[in-house]
Order: sequence, then structure tokens, then C-alpha cells
Amino acid sequence: MLARLVLFCSALLLVGVSQTSSAQEVNMADQDNVRSGPSWSIAIHGGAGSMSPEKMDETVQAEYKAALQTALDAGTKVLADGGEALDAVQAAIIVLENDPHFNAGRGAVFTYKGVNEHDAAIMDGRDRSAGASTGTTQVKNPILLARSVMDDSPHVFLSREGAEVFAREQNIEMVDPDWFATPERWRQLEELKAKKLGWFDVDLKYGTVGAVAVDSNGNVAAGTSTGGLTGKRWGRIGDSPMIGAGTYADNRACAVSATGAGEFFIRAGVAHEICARMRMIGESAEVAAKAVIAEVGALGGDGGVIVAAPDGTTAFAMNTPGMYRGRADSNGLNEIAIFEDE
Ligand code: ASP
Repeated sequence: MLARLVLFCSALLLVGVSQTSSAQEVNMADQDNVRSGPSWSIAIHGGAGSMSPEKMDETVQAEYKAALQTALDAGTKVLADGGEALDAVQAAIIVLENDPHFNAGRGAVFTYKGVNEHDAAIMDGRDRSAGASTGTTQVKNPILLARSVMDDSPHVFLSREGAEVFAREQNIEMVDPDWFATPERWRQLEELKAKKLGWFDVDLKYGTVGAVAVDSNGNVAAGTSTGGLTGKRWGRIGDSPMIGAGTYADNRACAVSATGAGEFFIRAGVAHEICARMRMIGESAEVAAKAVIAEVGALGGDGGVIVAAPDGTTAFAMNTPGMYRGRADSNGLNEIAIFEDE
């Protein structure tokens, strides 16, 4: 009887051991699936639009590429040093906000009344915490305000004067509104008014900036910052600061930042829709991004997105002739491009 019991227990033990080891194998296989790509990666954009090699001379192309590379390097440094996706996204966006080439921070477009009103959002894929602000006129780096809304307030989205009161309370750097103004953006506003163009008709349409990243822990983050559309009125808000429209991050799927005709991106819920497709039907970042940009196109909108997935994959999709963009990863990838076919 005792011998039988010992035999039975050893058999149980063996089954247990083999189950444990096969469970471990499955877990390791899962982990391999999740982290089969580069250990970190980052993608940035500086807006989509009607740019073409014919309309943009090589010196200007080189200027934009250098500006994008500086931003990419700032984000890359954070990730290569073992930092977090959230900090990498923030670092890249600060560079783009401070650079007058782009429609965010310094160099933002003017409203119809001739003011620069800024929108920004940031999101952490670990727990889907998010922060956003709209209509600020004196916050030097709106992405820092968005970050502080996420980190230091119980809210997700603050607007206008209230957002600036909060920014001051958090000791975020404020500047005179003139700091944001550039002659080129003023010229664009005057052209829009003189030609009685609509918001979506101005030449180089969208110069919003954004970044998405995945860090070596597999956490994703996304951020977007913009002046919105030239000549915007009535307190108009675009997709950029709206969580789920122009910005979204979820470790179960991806991180997305968008640029384009905001109204269409809001209606299509672009950033969340891309992540939902990846999470629920298993599409790759590229397939999901292309499908959702095609939906935006079908509604009559144009623009583009950048996407980063927890496995280190990054993807771009656009239905415009170009999008200022770049990406880098731990395997040595470093790409900067402007035109769609580059
Ligand atoms: N998406 C932005 C907006 O509609 C514009 C842009 O991408 O430049 O406000």
C-alpha cells in the first residue's frame, strides 16, 4: 500500500514538473513573440502635406531633415540610455516645438484673430494614463503641460485660461505670446484671408509634430503637439490633443500620433481605431495604420500617422504626397524622409 502511494506521489510530481516546464516554455515563447524585434524604437513626425521635390528645393529639404534628425537623436538618447518611452517621446517633441520649421510651439500657425493657440497630448501605454491641453497661448512647451496634466492632476484634458493657471501652479515655463510668432506663419494667414481659402486649402497643410516610442521594457508611449490649422476660429480644437483621435498609447497594442485634417481624424477615432484593430484582430501596425488612413480618405480627409508596437515595430501611413518623418531603433535603423515614396 505504502509502495503504491509513493509511486502515485512520484507520478504526480513528475506530471507537475513536466507541466511546469511546458508552461515555462509557453511563457518564454510568448515573451519571444512579444520581444522579437529591436529592444527599443522611436518614430517621429513633423506634419503631413502637399510637399513635393519640385516645390521644395534641396536646401530646404536638408534643413527639415536636419531638424528631424536632431529631434530623433534627442528621443534616441533617452532610449539608448535605458530611459522610458514616455521621456523619449517628450524629449523629441520639445526639440520639434522649439524649432520654427514646424507647426507646434515656436512656429505654430495663427488663428483667424492672429494668435498662436497650442494643443498637446501625451499618453502612457502602461496604464493608459494621459494628459492633454488645448488653446494655451503662453506655455513655452505645451507637451510639458500635457505631461504635467497627466502626472500632477486628477484630470486628462484642460483648456485655455484654466490650463494656463494650472501650468503656472506647476512652475511650467511661460513666455510672451510673441515668442511663438514667425513671419512665414503670418504670411500664410494673410494668404488664407486674401484668397478666401478654407482651413484645409492652405499650401503646406499640416505641420503638427508627434512621437511614438517603445522602450526596452516593452512600454509604449505617444505624444502630439500642434498650433492646429491656420485661420482656425471659434475655439476650434483638432484631433491632436484628443485622446483616441490624434494620440493614443496602449501596451496591449500600440502607440499612435497623427497629423492631418483633424475633423476627419476625430470622426474616425484614428489613433484608438488603429490600436483596437491591432489588439482585437491581430493586424500588424502597418496594415492597421493603412486601413484606418484609407477610412479617413474615404470620409474626405487627408494626413498621416506614425505607429510603434510593443515588439519594436514602427510604421508610417499617409494619404498625402509627403510627411516629415523619421525613425530609429536599437538595431541601428536611422531613417529620415519627407516624400511619400522615399
Ligand atoms: N491635425 C491638426 C489639427 O487638425 C493639424 C495638423 O496635423 O497639422 O489641428
